[in-house]
Parts: sequence; C-alpha cells; structure tokens
Amino acid sequence: MKLSRRSALKLISAGTAMAAGGTTVMAREPRTVSPDAMGMLYDTTRCIGCKACVTACYQANDLEPTRDADGLHQAPTDLDGHTKNIIKLYADGTRTSFFKYQCMHCVDPACVGACMLGSLKKDAVTGIVGYTTDYCVGCRYCQLACPFNVAKFEFDSPVPKIVKCEYCRHRQAEGATPTASGGFSRYPKGMGPACAEVCPRGAVIYGKRTELLAEARQRIAQQPGLYFEDRVYGETEGGGTQVLYLSHVPFQRLGLPRLSGDGIPKTAYQIQEGLYRGMVAPVVLYGALAVAIARNRKTGASEEAQR
Ligand code: SF4
Ligand code: SF4
Ligand code: SF4
Repeated sequence: MKLSRRSALKLISAGTAMAAGGTTVMAREPRTVSPDAMGMLYDTTRCIGCKACVTACYQANDLEPTRDADGLHQAPTDLDGHTKNIIKLYADGTRTSFFKYQCMHCVDPACVGACMLGSLKKDAVTGIVGYTTDYCVGCRYCQLACPFNVAKFEFDSPVPKIVKCEYCRHRQAEGATPTASGGFSRYPKGMGPACAEVCPRGAVIYGKRTELLAEARQRIAQQPGLYFEDRVYGETEGGGTQVLYLSHVPFQRLGLPRLSGDGIPKTAYQIQEGLYRGMVAPVVLYGALAVAIARNRKTGASEEAQR
C-alpha cells in the first residue's frame, strides 16, 4: 500500500501527541566550525546586480524559472521551490545596494537539528549543508527552524522536495578535493559554486571559510569608511555561517537577521524537544515512516520510468 504524504503528516501529529508528557531530551553542545569548512564571501560594494549568478544557479541546478501564463520568465521576488539564489535591491532614498540571498550553510544549522529523519546533513569536512529526498516526509520543520527563511518547498510538485542551495556539491567531481591548496578556488573550474564562477565582478567568491574571513578583514582594513560596519556578517551570528557578507548598508536593512552568537537556534530545540519527548513512540513511528517513504519513492520512480 502506498502511504500518502497527508497520511504521513497525520502519523507525525499522532506521534507528537503520544510523545507529549514524556521525558525531556538533553540539549547537545553547539557545533563548531570545521577547519576545512568551505564558504562564500559576498561584498555588496562589488555587486552590479547583473543577475548572472541567478541564471547560472538555475542552469547548474537544472531548475526552471517561474513563468507567467504566456510562458514569459518572471524574475522571482524571493527564494522559492524553483529558486535557490536571488539578487534583491535595497534602496532607501540615498543609498542603494544589491543583495545576494541563498542558504547560509550555518556552522550549526537549525534545519539539520529540526529534521528528525536525517534528510538534511552537514558535511563533517566542508560543512556544506546538503539535502537528500530519501526519507523526507515533507513535514517542513526545517523551513520553520531556519532563521534565514531559506529552505523552500516545491508546493507545485506531486512529489515535493525541500529546495535550497547545496553549494553546487553535485558539480564537485571526484578528486576535486576542497582541501587542495591554491587561492580561493579549491575546485577545478566548472566544479565549484556556479554563482561565484560566473560573477564578472568578483562580488561573490568561494573558498575556505578561514581564508575568506581573512580576505574580508583585509578589505575592511584597506578601505576605511567603505563598509557601514567594520565587521563580517556570519562570523558569529547564530553560531556562525559559512556564507559571509561585507556591506555598505546596515546588514539588517538587507534582511540579514540580528542573531546572537549562540549555536543552534532555540526553535530547532523546541521542535525537537516537542517531538522527542517520550522517545520510544516517535522512534518507532519515524522508522516506519522512513521505510514507507523509501518504498513510495521507489514505486514513484518505477512508475515514472514506465511512462
Ligand atoms: S553575478 Fe556578481 S555582480 Fe552580478 S548580480 Fe551576481 S553577485 Fe552581483
Ligand atoms: S540558512 Fe537555513 S537552510 Fe541554510 S543551513 Fe542555515 S538553517 Fe539550514
Ligand atoms: S552555490 Fe550553486 S546552488 Fe548555491 S546559490 Fe550558488 S549556484 Fe546556486
């Protein structure tokens, strides 16, 4: 029998109710940044808003941009189930700024903490936060937990997935080790984040987080007064992010939330604690769900192949 997503969500609700009133899970220590963590540095003072990075992201990820009824491409106003990267424009009458928006690849990602089935994972070496559909039940707790409102859902798909930037990890061919020495680009050309590779202004660059941080600090020191704040957004916010920002307008005006330096945001713990209380029932329940969903995906794939 095929298990529908609706049934799966009902089961989750039941499991949550069964779990209420049980024991409380101990909060774990926040994650720290890996010495080989990869990242991106975006500098608003260099971006000209050409959106080459947005087009490259669509192409590299085989995504179809949103189109209107006449089939004309509509520039999205936000990240969505088809869009992993956008450029926004900020204007306040005296200043303008472009702003690149995608997954921040948090050092201690709330989305990973909120996903009970391990569909979102943080790579232990590169720190890239990846997603796999294998056991995803579409509960969207990761969306709820993300402090940057990044994770999106394919509402218009019969088998919806979570959609977010995965640092173009599928482009990184075997042997293209991110720890090899040499400049910011640690993957051969054509293997790194497509958005950074096409940027004509070097407004977004990629590489090891430690080196990007050093580069950002150097820019601040060499160009006094250029940036609104002499600091790098993402160095500490929410426990740190692997996507870093330099800006000539206040970070919060660009939509970057003011976050403390604490690790995994509280929301993820609240979600987890609510769900994991009483442990046994949810574990059995989610185990059963995972098997059912894996089976559904196989059935779906063979039906697709027969079409
Ligand atoms: S490609 Fe570079 S300059 Fe163009 S919009 Fe993207 S980040 Fe800005
Ligand atoms: S920005 Fe959101 S989706 Fe990306 S790693 Fe952080 S919590 Fe997860
Ligand atoms: S790293 Fe890849 S998926 Fe992420 S924003 Fe850049 S092009 Fe898009």
